[in-house]
Amino acid sequence: MPDCTHLDHVLITELPEEVPGCAECLATGDKWLHLRICLECGHVGCCDDSPNRHASAHAAATSHPIIRSLEPGERWSWCFVDELAMIIPEVEGTTRIPPSPMLS
Ligand SMILES: [Zn+2]
Ligand SMILES: [Zn+2]
Ligand SMILES: [Zn+2]
Repeated sequence: MPDCTHLDHVLITELPEEVPGCAECLATGDKWLHLRICLECGHVGCCDDSPNRHASAHAAATSHPIIRSLEPGERWSWCFVDELAMIIPEVEGTTRIPPSPMLS
């Protein structure tokens, strides 16, 4: 299995207790499907199945390489540079998130 070489960009090792949703979608009144958190700065954005793909946009704009899913029961992270999914055991916590506005 190939290794991600960007783990030194993981600065968020304790997930927030609760987030209100995708930062940009909340600001513009848009809807998201799933939530991802940037493990370098804590930015919360929406997944690539959401209309605005704010998590990918954040990674492209900032060169922050790794996101983690905030969906209940999901622990996977994703490196945009290596295009690699992985579990990062150092990242702890569970984040309460609101239901997707697209599904309600
Ligand atoms: Zn990587
Ligand atoms: Zn969004
Ligand atoms: Zn970031």
